[in-house]
Amino acid sequence: MQQRILTATRQLLHSAKRPRCLLGTLTNATRRCIHARATEYLPSNLPGWNESQRSVREAIAKICEKYTDEYWMERDNEHKFPWEIYHDLASNGWLGICMPEKYGGSELGISEAATMLHTISESGAGMNGASSVHMNIFGLEPVAKFGTEEQKQRWLVPLIQGKERACFGVTESNTGLDTLRLQSMARRHGDTYTLSGSKVFISTAQVAEKILILVRTTPLDQVNKPSQGLSLFYTDLDRQAVQITEIPKMGRSAVDTNVLLFENWKVPACDLIGQEGDGFKMIMHGMNAERILVGAEALGLGYAALRRTCNYVNERVVFGSPIGKYQGIQHPLAECWMNLESARLMIYTAAKLYDQGYTDGEYANAAKYLAAEAAFKTAERAVMSHGGMGYAKEYHVERYFRESTLSRIAPISGEMIKNYIGQRVLGLPKSY
Ligand SMILES: Cc1cc2nc3c(=O)[nH]c(=O)nc-3n(C[C@H](O)[C@H](O)[C@H](O)COP(=O)(O)OP(=O)(O)OC[C@H]3O[C@@H](n4cnc5c(N)ncnc54)[C@H](O)[C@@H]3O)c2cc1C
Repeated sequence: MQQRILTATRQLLHSAKRPRCLLGTLTNATRRCIHARATEYLPSNLPGWNESQRSVREAIAKICEKYTDEYWMERDNEHKFPWEIYHDLASNGWLGICMPEKYGGSELGISEAATMLHTISESGAGMNGASSVHMNIFGLEPVAKFGTEEQKQRWLVPLIQGKERACFGVTESNTGLDTLRLQSMARRHGDTYTLSGSKVFISTAQVAEKILILVRTTPLDQVNKPSQGLSLFYTDLDRQAVQITEIPKMGRSAVDTNVLLFENWKVPACDLIGQEGDGFKMIMHGMNAERILVGAEALGLGYAALRRTCNYVNERVVFGSPIGKYQGIQHPLAECWMNLESARLMIYTAAKLYDQGYTDGEYANAAKYLAAEAAFKTAERAVMSHGGMGYAKEYHVERYFRESTLSRIAPISGEMIKNYIGQRVLGLPKSY
C-alpha cells in the first residue's frame, strides 16, 4: 500500500526545484531536523509528515509559486475565479488526489489531500485558492462510495480531469445548521424528479456545471426519524430552472457564493445517488474528511499570515529597532506558532486516523475547530503587528484576516463542534 502511494505521488511529482524562499536569506529546509522557521517558504520536512506527504508538499509548492501574492490580491479585488491555478492543478493530475485510480485519480489518502490544500492555502492563495478546487478533491466522495459504475464513469472522470466543476447544495436559509429540517422537495414522476425550493451560500455556483444537492423526497411528518427521507442527487445545474444570485460577502471573493431558487426543476431519476431516502447517510459519510480538509486550509492561511508578519516585523524599524525585537510583538507571534502547530499535529493525526479507517468524529471536529481558531487569531495578530499597514490591502494580511473568519463558520460552526464534543465525548445532555 505504502509503495503504491509513493509511486503515485512520484508520478505526480515534477522534476522539482526547491520552492523559492522569501527574502532570499533562508537556509535549505531539508537540512533541518527540527521545525523550519516560520519565515521559510513552504518547507516540506515538517515533523510527522511521511515521504508521500513531503512529495505532495514539494510538487504543490512548485505549482503554487507561480501564483504571486499580487495574483491573489487581484483575483480577490476583482471577484475573478482563479482559472489559471485551477487548470494548472487539473492538468498536472492533482484534482483526483484521493479519487479512485480507475477513474483517473491517484487514490491517495486524506493525509495527502490535506497536505495539498494546506500547501495551496499557505502559498498565499489562502481560501480563494483552496476553495477553487476543494469540491473537486473530495466533494464527490458520496458518488465514489455509493454511485453505480455508470455514474462513476459519467461523473468522476470529467471532475478529475477538471472539465466539469461541481458545487454543493445543502444549506437553506430557513433551517441553517439544522440540516435535517431542510425544506426543498423532490417528487418523482416516472423517470424524472421535480425539484422545488431554495439553497443559500452555495459556493462556485457561478462557474459550476454540476451540483451535488440534498433535498427531501419524503415529507418530515411522514418519516420515523428526521434523518430519513432525504435524497442526494448529482445533476446538471440547469440555469433555465435555477435562479442563481451571488451574495456579496466579506472575503474569499475570487470564489462566488450564491442563493439558488428553483421551481419545477426536472432532474433525471438516473441522477439520484444510492437509494431514495438515504441521502443524509451518504452526506455524513464524508463529513469527517471534509472537516480535516477545511482545517488544513485554515492552517495554511494561518501560516501564510505568520510568515508574512515575521518577515515584516524583522524589517520594520520603529524607535530604533526592528519591532520584532519588542516582546509585545514577538510573544503573541510565538503564541500563534504554538497554536498553529498544535492544530497541525491534531489535523494530521485526525487525517491519519481517518486513513486507517477510524470513523468517529471527535478528532476531525476538534482539529477543524483548533485550526480555524488558530488561523483567525494569527491573522488578527498579523494585522495588528503591521500597524496601519495591516489595514492596507497592499500588505495582504487584511485579506487573510477576512478569509480567516470563514472556516470558523463553515461547513460547521465552532458552537456545533462544541455541542458534538460535549455530547459525544463528555456524555453531557443535548440542549436543542
Ligand atoms: C462563504 C460561505 C460559503 C459557504 N459555502 C457553502 C456551500 O458551498 N454549500 C453549502 O451547502 N453551504 C455553504 N455555506 C453555508 C455554511 O455551511 C453555513 O453558513 C454554516 O453551516 C452555518 O449555517 P447558518 O449560516 O445557517 O447559521 P445558523 O444555523 O443560522 O447559525 C447561526 C449561529 O447560531 C449558532 N447555533 C445554531 N444552532 C446552535 C445550537 N444548537 N447550539 C449552539 N449554537 C448554535 C451557530 O453556531 C451560529 O453561530 C457557506 C457559508 C459561507 C459563509
